[in-house]
Amino acid sequence: MKLKFANFKMNMTASGLRSYLSAILPEIKEYEKQVAFFTPCVNLFVFRDFEGEFGIGAQNFYFEEKGAFTGEVSLSMLKELNVSLALVGHSERRQIFGESNELIGKKLSAALKAGIEPVLCIGESLEERQAGVAFEVIKSQLRLALGNVDKLKSLIIAYEPIWAIGSGNPASPEDAEKMHGFIKETVKSILESSELSVKVLYGGSVNLENAGEFLKMPNVDGLLVGGASLDPAKFAKIVKADC
Ligand code: PEP
Repeated sequence: MKLKFANFKMNMTASGLRSYLSAILPEIKEYEKQVAFFTPCVNLFVFRDFEGEFGIGAQNFYFEEKGAFTGEVSLSMLKELNVSLALVGHSERRQIFGESNELIGKKLSAALKAGIEPVLCIGESLEERQAGVAFEVIKSQLRLALGNVDKLKSLIIAYEPIWAIGSGNPASPEDAEKMHGFIKETVKSILESSELSVKVLYGGSVNLENAGEFLKMPNVDGLLVGGASLDPAKFAKIVKADC
């Protein structure tokens, strides 16, 4: 079965997350290993009261270990809250918070060093797709993020075309398949490793109706779901869409 990751973005209070987990966990018991929940850092403590094999994900962190970085959260703080995964390079962080490719590279390396598995998010804008440069943009984002990374055994990438995120206008499963194949080849060539296991998730307006179609694609190793993950009943169905 393929991975199903939920990105709650800036939604749900701690009590909301508690109700959400109480509702969804009994529904996805057999599939927990493939599921991860990416919640705002302030709510991560809630997971202490829920047992299971699902992944606990952070949406953000800073690459420095500690110090005068007011408002930021370190990887060691996340580790104490049992976080095993973290988003890096989400387009909302690139666009709204001005995260540069340089910062994204530093965050990726810091997460790997700390033993938290980064989920590197990449994607082209609508203008870039229409100009026919989507593949070049993706290659350049990968090069800039992975430039300082040493040998790796595995890596998770989320391909999220910016124009598809939250727009109700997903990529076609065929376009995602093509791009995922390209991403896998490019990552292996940048890191000079043919043995590296690269999983590529698709994200961008995934919903109950289209999840199954994406999951049929051989190079789509899973989904990163934003809006449609906020309803536990809906997300439980997406989790089971390829079962
Ligand atoms: C996301 O935020 O990673 C995402 C894919 O959002 P949505 O599913 O709402 O498009």
